[in-house]
Amino acid sequence: MPKPTPEPPSHCDGPECHRPIYAGTLCQTHHRQRLLHGTLERIRPYRRRREDTVKLAGLRIPKPCAELLQRQAAERDCSVGAAIADALEHWWRGEVRRSRRTRPR
Ligand SMILES: [Zn+2]
Repeated sequence: MPKPTPEPPSHCDGPECHRPIYAGTLCQTHHRQRLLHGTLERIRPYRRRREDTVKLAGLRIPKPCAELLQRQAAERDCSVGAAIADALEHWWRGEVRRSRRTRPR
């Protein structure tokens, strides 16, 4: 009697991963990790999905936030990615100022 064919893996072989197989024995993210870095790391969880969010430039954010970023991109005639980078830089500068104010002398 022929040996039964082993069951193909049902989920990814990556660390703590339960995603479906994309290539070989890995999910898409771990497949990409192996190609880019040669190592497999645990995938950090996504932010929990919330109501009233939309996807913009690969990010899931509140709809009014996405609309504001799109308006700013149109007003400045730049890409949405550039508007997001500007917003992050603005936030970061505020963080730096706050940390300077709270630093003990
Ligand atoms: Zn995986």
